[in-house]
Amino acid sequence: MTTALALDGGTPIRTQPLPSVSDASGRTLGEEEVQAAASVLRSGRLNSTVGEQTAVFEREFAEYMGTRYASASSSGTAAIHAAVAAVDPNPGDEIITTGLSDAGTVMPILAQNAVPVFADVDPSTGNLEVESVRAAITPRTRAILVVHLFGAPAPVVELRALADAHDIILIEDCAQAYLTRVGPEGALAGTVGHLGCFSLQQTKHITAGDGGLTITNDGRLARRARLFVDKAWPRDTGERTHLFLGLNYRMTEIQSAVARVQLGRLADVVSARRAAASVLTTVLEELPGLAAAPADGTSYWQFPVFLDPQVAGGDAGGYAEALGAEGIPANGGYITRPLYLTPALAEKRTYGTSGLPLTDAWQEYAPGLCPATEDLIGGRLLVLPWNENYSSEDVEDFGSALRKVHGAFVAETGGAASRG
Ligand SMILES: *Cc1c(COP(=O)(O)O)cnc(C)c1O
Repeated sequence: MTTALALDGGTPIRTQPLPSVSDASGRTLGEEEVQAAASVLRSGRLNSTVGEQTAVFEREFAEYMGTRYASASSSGTAAIHAAVAAVDPNPGDEIITTGLSDAGTVMPILAQNAVPVFADVDPSTGNLEVESVRAAITPRTRAILVVHLFGAPAPVVELRALADAHDIILIEDCAQAYLTRVGPEGALAGTVGHLGCFSLQQTKHITAGDGGLTITNDGRLARRARLFVDKAWPRDTGERTHLFLGLNYRMTEIQSAVARVQLGRLADVVSARRAAASVLTTVLEELPGLAAAPADGTSYWQFPVFLDPQVAGGDAGGYAEALGAEGIPANGGYITRPLYLTPALAEKRTYGTSGLPLTDAWQEYAPGLCPATEDLIGGRLLVLPWNENYSSEDVEDFGSALRKVHGAFVAETGGAASRG
């Protein structure tokens, strides 16, 4: 006997909206941030070239991460662009990355005229798989750009060894991975690669609306990343000149002042997310065909569930629809297509009609390129929104809705996938 799904006219598990990262309900923003922003406005120094908030924030962030350098910028995409620019590829050089991420991972590669080469992911985490990366290395590879998806640790210790063996750079995209712990020693994500990149966009663990950070221990890479976001203007020398092609991706003083307060809240934000996630992870252990990401080191930007549709009685799209009707928002697949199948890449919509730099690509950006990536997006990856403000009742509702939908789907199909 199962209860009727809300999708089929039954009573939904909940009707109240959950705390959401799209507004104050799911964000940890307080009076201190208001004061910080107001004090910058009162000072009249809103730009980092005249104020000191950004410089102080950079020092504080580097110290927090235990790296020598941090450079602030206007977004996570800008922070990644600065990292790619610091690597300084020649046009047509290659950077190996994942097709399962935000577009902010891959656009900076194209913007710097390098060619993204896609490696496949581990189906149990969605993170780059080391052997697939190894197989994608060519004489033109200059860097590996790895993502810690949803805050789950990617195999960066192995990838750093691989990068070092080939004399190439490892960039970690940590936009979803503040305080993620990686490797046997539990290093902070972002500190194992040569460069680590973070985002302060609205939905990330901490936010200033938008914003980014690039961290490194390498003085040369740090200087190039810093100059790149400020028109390559070496202000420290007093000379008004431009040392190479750079842009204006500066973080404003208001963003920096807010971000400094947010950084002070980060540890609590991550531990609240972890505590809530551990409750839901336990629920998932009872539900055959549904698996949480391995909990070790994960910082839970969102909460991914990995499905075996044959056992779970439905695919991620079917689950997302049924959960949505129960009042539990969920997203089947995370993104609608792998990054290499978006028009920018698949149709080479880059610079005019030139197709540059993708005219040099040896990979065909076509379905079948990365099968595990495509399986996850196509039906095996269910993403539950997550934040630090869920009450234990909220988390219970996630569990009840998952149990209910799972029970109905499995009863209906006797195990064979039908919903979705
Ligand atoms: C959010 C995000 C980015 C881009 O950051 P923005 O601040 O939105 O530009 C890049 N990579 C990943 C994995 C992200 O989640």
